[in-house]
Amino acid sequence: MGCKKGQSTAKPKSGRYRCKDCQAVVRKKDEVCDPKKIKKAE
Ligand SMILES: [Zn+2]
Repeated sequence: MGCKKGQSTAKPKSGRYRCKDCQAVVRKKDEVCDPKKIKKAE
């Protein structure tokens, strides 16, 4: 519910969240099913 299922448009910058399940990157952690905070930008 609310998870973007890999269809995110956000870049994986520091302070954003990546879904550990489907790899979607979002700005708000409630937009993915299993968020993990991104610590460093590439
Ligand atoms: Zn997900």
